[in-house]
Amino acid sequence: MNCPKCSNQLKPFNLESDLYFDRCDTCKGMWLEKGELAKTMGEKEDFPLPDRLKDGPKSSVKCPKCQDINMIEFTLAPKSRVILETCTRCQGVWLDSKEMAKIKSILREQRIELKKKKLGPL
Ligand SMILES: [Zn+2]
Ligand SMILES: [Zn+2]
Repeated sequence: MNCPKCSNQLKPFNLESDLYFDRCDTCKGMWLEKGELAKTMGEKEDFPLPDRLKDGPKSSVKCPKCQDINMIEFTLAPKSRVILETCTRCQGVWLDSKEMAKIKSILREQRIELKKKKLGPL
């Protein structure tokens, strides 16, 4: 696969012990297959992508896997303005270099919120 942004060849990148993603050496963008984003975050299920998929604006970037289909942009968390690109067909996700770090911090916050709700008002 080639980078959808600078068309360099993507190389396997070892993020953690058993997690390999395709990464671009030039722009440090990463391609995650369907379900891999969830795995990275230690979640069992992927983000509820299908709901968001329908009305995202079309990205100018083509899916590196399907190649003949433009990805769409979707906002993962409105407040944080993390905008990812995803493919409506294979549901892979393209992350720009800084997005992974942002996503991780969002998920941390979400877990804290969830814990608070479960505990109820103090
Ligand atoms: Zn690139
Ligand atoms: Zn695709």
